[in-house]
Amino acid sequence: MNQSFIKAKPILNTLTEHGYEAYFVGGAVRDYLLNRPIHDIDIATSATPNIVQALFKNVIPVGIEHGTVIVVHDGVAYEVTTFRKESEYHDFRRPNEVTFISSLQEDLKRRDFTMNAIAVSNNLEIIDPFNGKLDIHNQLIRTVGSPYDRFQEDPLRILRAIRFVAQLNFSVDKETLHAIDEMKSYLEHLSVERIAQEFEKLCLGQASGKALKLIATYNIHCFLPCLKGYQAEIETIAKLSLTRLKEPHECWTLLLFYINHDPKTFLKAWKRPKRMIKQVETLLYALKREKSKQWDAYLFYSLGWELSQSYITIHTVIHKQSLEVNLRNFHKIYAELPIKQRKDLAINGNDLIDFTNRKRGPWIEEVLTLIEQSIIAGTLRNDKNELREWVSHWHNQ
Ligand code: ATP
Ligand code: MG
Repeated sequence: MNQSFIKAKPILNTLTEHGYEAYFVGGAVRDYLLNRPIHDIDIATSATPNIVQALFKNVIPVGIEHGTVIVVHDGVAYEVTTFRKESEYHDFRRPNEVTFISSLQEDLKRRDFTMNAIAVSNNLEIIDPFNGKLDIHNQLIRTVGSPYDRFQEDPLRILRAIRFVAQLNFSVDKETLHAIDEMKSYLEHLSVERIAQEFEKLCLGQASGKALKLIATYNIHCFLPCLKGYQAEIETIAKLSLTRLKEPHECWTLLLFYINHDPKTFLKAWKRPKRMIKQVETLLYALKREKSKQWDAYLFYSLGWELSQSYITIHTVIHKQSLEVNLRNFHKIYAELPIKQRKDLAINGNDLIDFTNRKRGPWIEEVLTLIEQSIIAGTLRNDKNELREWVSHWHNQ
């Protein structure tokens, strides 16, 4: 048995010893069958949330109304969800009413794809009523039941299918793909947050190029925020070595490098956090700047360590260069920077006022930037006396 399952087994044992059914379900089972690393383990049980709470010491009631509690065992958190059936999807949001049921089969039936609708018991028995194992073997994404009905219930599944194409390098089954094509306009009903979450996972998947190609080919982008009209650009991006991208802000930067759309408006439409919008803007500015030298120490100084790494990654993807060489250059340049951040300057804004007897104003920022640039360029030393002299000279001029 897989190590993660062995660690989680006592939870299944406790539930079954008390007469309830309990199984590993969802993505963990899929990834286990695929021999991929398992992230979080989800458990489905016939016990109601109250019973689960009573049976375990360390329980966090995160979503009792949806039948979910978190059981913490040996330092690991497990989502334990009572078998349920989702009655109605209101306004294409998550269902707000669920019915607890006693049958595992019914619980598996509400799940999106056959590969995600397999259960494993505590003695490794596999319950697979929709032939998910066969689809995994054939690397196929297929809805449980009619794709038309399932996408109508929750159009997010359309995007989830494509996200799994990206993550698993699978293909979409013919009928499911046909339904995606027919029903893609339903994506417009979803909340941006749900779309963005899947889209970011998609972009970071090992086969994201394949997924983006699918999006462009079937015009799915027309129903995603601000992407209408960018088919050619998405196809261009799909051909790049996207596997180098490791962070969502890197994906957005690359996308916006090719897409001629104001980054702020675009990312606000996608409801991305302010901090991320700032990061993307900074990176885009750096990437689009004409450069005289290939590697510019001041650029890395102004980006800082973390964003410099992202800059190199994206630069490498766009210009199809070797990341290893670029990184080696970067490490050398960064190590040799005489200062790494403004805090490292031997003087600050108050010193400038002292030296010059001038009033506080925007000039301080300008002079500090000038000093930083000169120090990085090697024409000025980061020494208080030397800087004082330089400032006096500047002031007199
Ligand atoms: P990941 O590796 O991203 O966690 P996952 O398959 O575990 O992938 P989750 O979003 O964690 O995906 O969902 C857990 C399980 O819940 C899925 O495997 C699937 O069985 C079910 N599920 C999740 N979202 C939906 C949905 N929109 N419709 C139907 N079933 C869903
Ligand atoms: Mg999961």
